[in-house]
Amino acid sequence: MPATTTINGSATTFEVRDPATGEVVGVYPIHTRADVDAAVAAARPAGTWWAALGFAERARRLDGWRGEIARGRAELAELIHREMGKPVSDAKLEIAMALEHLRWAARNAEKVLGRRSVRPSLLTANHAAAVEYLPYGVVGVIGPWNYPVFTPLGSVSFALAAGNAVVFKPSEYTPGVGRWLAEAFARVTPELPVFQVVTGLGDTGNALCRSAVGKISFTGSTATGKRVMAACAENLTPLLMECGGKDALIVDADADLAAAADAAVWGGLSNAGQTCLAVERVYVHTAVYDRFVAELVARARAIDAGTPESKIGPITMPKQVAVIRRHIEDAVERGARTLLGGIDGIRGQFVQPTILAEVPEDAAAITEETFGPTLTVTRVRDMDEAVELVNAGAYGLGSTVFARRDGARIAERLRAGGTSINAFVAHATIPTLPLGGVGGSGFGRVHGPDGLKEFAYAKSTTTQRFPSPLPLTTFRRGERTDAVVDALVAVLHGRAR
Ligand code: NDP
Repeated sequence: MPATTTINGSATTFEVRDPATGEVVGVYPIHTRADVDAAVAAARPAGTWWAALGFAERARRLDGWRGEIARGRAELAELIHREMGKPVSDAKLEIAMALEHLRWAARNAEKVLGRRSVRPSLLTANHAAAVEYLPYGVVGVIGPWNYPVFTPLGSVSFALAAGNAVVFKPSEYTPGVGRWLAEAFARVTPELPVFQVVTGLGDTGNALCRSAVGKISFTGSTATGKRVMAACAENLTPLLMECGGKDALIVDADADLAAAADAAVWGGLSNAGQTCLAVERVYVHTAVYDRFVAELVARARAIDAGTPESKIGPITMPKQVAVIRRHIEDAVERGARTLLGGIDGIRGQFVQPTILAEVPEDAAAITEETFGPTLTVTRVRDMDEAVELVNAGAYGLGSTVFARRDGARIAERLRAGGTSINAFVAHATIPTLPLGGVGGSGFGRVHGPDGLKEFAYAKSTTTQRFPSPLPLTTFRRGERTDAVVDALVAVLHGRAR
């Protein structure tokens, strides 16, 4: 819980602290349920106005916003670094990726969501038919702190491109980043509050779920996701859920071991492991296990946390350090070998890279999201066993396969929203590809055409072009029509086997 200021028994502001130094880097209001309702009420006419601008004008303004973010990237990256601790260079990479998706959403919204004619069937041939995808009006976005630009913009950019107004509740750890993004948007769309930010703690997010928004897009932990879903159920508010993961990387016998080790190290340790798609488990074919592990440990040993030059920063949330500690301790007590790091590598908010081998499959380090710079590495007799162990988990977000011959065959058997073959996380960075999970990792998709359709509902329209010789939906329908329909059904469907 962050420090708060209280007036008449109610907390009114909260502090944001630099996780590396503990220094206060900002104080933000705690918006109440009334504040959130007021923001949503103001967003409603703004959304109507924004939708009426049409795809081309919205794309022009989203391009303007993209330029504002791109030109302000040094300042924004510094803010990300101060609020949640990742190195500035990683923050810049995150911004670059977010801008790619923003551009794609602006350029492709009309093609994906715009009105298009579709063919009627034989029995309905007297109608013209069309489908289009219309905005919900106001979309509420609840975001995490670990990628405070890339993750919320995966929803915000697509919701705006689809013609919605957005009310965004950033994580209590990164409210300044959320506010910065909204201020940049207001510079290109000053007329009405099309993109607003409300700040606060969990209660503010809860208020957004219970407000009059047309849809909620939630990214965060699975546990909070369940609370969000319960709150949305009150008004039957539809929901997009991007939750946690326990992603695995598989190494086949013919894999490029250097590339696989490089991907495992980056995938597991970058952002101090605080990535929904982080590699947390590695399964390696027994034929190459020893060579791979040697390569992995050598590369991970070169990474450390805790100095200004370090490639990984602190753990952002103080309470997460206890989770990481518990996972390591539990694994070691149950017979795991520590190949690198371990409990002694935890100092305050900093956790040194940790690699654990021979971790039992039912240990927390294998079954629960650790969200720290830790990797488990497990020997498997073949790829069947690897697939079985990967799919045994409750989560199903991303996955990585390193293999020369059978990559695609292994990938298609993995129960996950995405798999990158011979690279880490590529599927999350290609703007045309949807991103999301199954099982405990949530449902719905951001990015790509699916990501645009999440923020619009399908609207079907028909126009009768001429009266049907076979009037079906009328009490005037007579025996002759019934007989013709009966004969047609026999011809069209009766022979289907
Ligand atoms: P949390 O679940 O703690 O919080 C997510 C957001 O929900 C925050 O803005 C939080 O606000 C808000 N919130 C908390 N309680 C409530 C509530 N009762 N009602 C509504 N909103 C609430 O997640 P983290 O911020 O710690 O993010 C890390 C998690 O996000 C990890 O599990 C990670 O895997 C997942 N994630 C998933 C991604 C994906 O694409 N699938 C991408 C990135 C992260 P506050 O911070 O103020 O409490």
